[in-house]
Amino acid sequence: MNKTIYQFHKKVMATPMNWVEYNEYRDWELPYDGYNTKEGYLVEYLDGSKPNHPDHKGRIVWLPKEEFDAGYTAITDGNNKVPPSRIEDLLSKLEYKFARVDGTTVTACWSFLPNGFSVGYGESACVDAANYDQELGEKYALERCNRNLLGVHPDLVPIVEHAIHITRVDFTVIEGMRSIERQQKLVRSGASSTMNSRHLTGHAVDLAAWVDGRIDWSWPLYYQIADAMKCAAKKLNTPIEWGGDWKQFKDGPHFQLPWVSYPIETIRECG
Ligand SMILES: [Zn+2]
Repeated sequence: MNKTIYQFHKKVMATPMNWVEYNEYRDWELPYDGYNTKEGYLVEYLDGSKPNHPDHKGRIVWLPKEEFDAGYTAITDGNNKVPPSRIEDLLSKLEYKFARVDGTTVTACWSFLPNGFSVGYGESACVDAANYDQELGEKYALERCNRNLLGVHPDLVPIVEHAIHITRVDFTVIEGMRSIERQQKLVRSGASSTMNSRHLTGHAVDLAAWVDGRIDWSWPLYYQIADAMKCAAKKLNTPIEWGGDWKQFKDGPHFQLPWVSYPIETIRECG
């Protein structure tokens, strides 16, 4: 008999709530044997299961704290951001390579997963060649390289992580979260057409094909990366939009969580 060991993976959303509170929340009469203030969680399944409460999109249940803590690990904090501990865990597994770009003051840094896949790229440069300092250059390049994954939406990070394992074309994350200043610069230079970019909120990443130790912008490679990203997104039940599918301003390296599924309130400027 073939006995394989399996592990259960299911994404849920949970709110601390004791047994009495949960029964009140459901508008249920408290069962006699459950008349206590046992700690636990209101757990909402994010797997598309049939809802059983008008305020929740997925089915909700109550789980005692011990059972919940033993089975689930937080992948976001209460504000829906990837918690620093998870980023630290990811970063602690990475290995780095540095190189000075020939004839320039640019230092490049690449980060790799233990299986050799490249997941990040960052550059630093100093204005005057006379001031080139290898150690400092490497330090700044590494910071930029790691920053590419920081601030990226928690639903997007696992898609990238999974896609890296199934893609036929190796790729690297060249940009994730972007500052308003940088977006303004990109719009001015014509590299971006909008101040409404999903990069500003961490809902987008740019991926670059990685072939023979360098970034390759050949368009056919991006179809293959897009295949891997779409396949990973499907597996994780998260919708994804590829910039290469856009009718205008096709953007091969760009992947984002769609506005329809991930809306955010527009920040209105005053004055
Ligand atoms: Zn982009």
